[in-house]
Amino acid sequence: MSLPQQNRVALVTGASRGIGRALALALAAQGAHVIALARTQGALEELDDEIRRTGGEATLVPCDLRDFDALDRLGAAIHERWHRLDILIANAGILGPITPITHATPKSFADILDVNVTANWRLIRSLDMLLRASNAGRAIFISSGVAHRAIVKPFWGPYAISKSALEMLARTYAAETATVSNLKVMLVNPGPLRTDMRAQAMPGEDKLTLKLPEEIAPKIMMLCAPSWKETGQLYDFPTDRVLSFRGPE
Ligand code: NAP
Repeated sequence: MSLPQQNRVALVTGASRGIGRALALALAAQGAHVIALARTQGALEELDDEIRRTGGEATLVPCDLRDFDALDRLGAAIHERWHRLDILIANAGILGPITPITHATPKSFADILDVNVTANWRLIRSLDMLLRASNAGRAIFISSGVAHRAIVKPFWGPYAISKSALEMLARTYAAETATVSNLKVMLVNPGPLRTDMRAQAMPGEDKLTLKLPEEIAPKIMMLCAPSWKETGQLYDFPTDRVLSFRGPE
């Protein structure tokens, strides 16, 4: 019996832990060849062991997303080996300090924008032709509810700004590819999940009250499926709904 993602190639950024790791394992379990990117080589090797134990396949890319030239080289390497990319999960992100926007340092502001926004633009730029070459290309960008909540979430400044920018990046890409390719581009709001980033953001929280990254994985697998039809929308995990964007015309 063939698996849902059999013979498909998926790149997952931030695959070393948290949500990205859970998605990498879920994709491998569905038969995809997973290209797993993160900085921590040891954690990637552990992921690789786990994928292989269950009969899956992975290629490891130990890389800092701020090395933009490396992202160009990654596109070239994927082209050489597979001539296409079926799934991009742009998941890696950093939180930075939770602080008044006037207190953010130039270095932390630049780092957050580099990892959460510019690297994703560089990935789109490097991988666009490969995603279009797939018969059912899927690009998923992991955002956050704070992209929409300046009033109820003050002090999440640079992170919230970066996720707003990420959403416009993904929506722009969706609009530009909608009628000329089979590519579907989706955003995801995971809501609070039990990961290192959430613990950093909310150190006093009882983490046992939070859902695990493994719980969102089957939902994101639906967005990765060749049968998925929507593009340029936001999947909201806390309400399990696909939301359209609305604003002034
Ligand atoms: P996490 O546990 O902190 O994991 C972040 C991942 O990103 C790690 O694999 C990390 O790997 C990778 N990463 C960070 N900086 C990188 C860099 N410069 N180059 C390459 N990889 C880098 O976070 P998470 O909670 O799973 O978050 C995943 C995504 O979900 C993020 O975009 C986050 O904003 C979003 N999100 C999370 C929550 C939540 O409650 N957890 C809520 C809303 C949105 P290395 O350190 O090994 O490089």
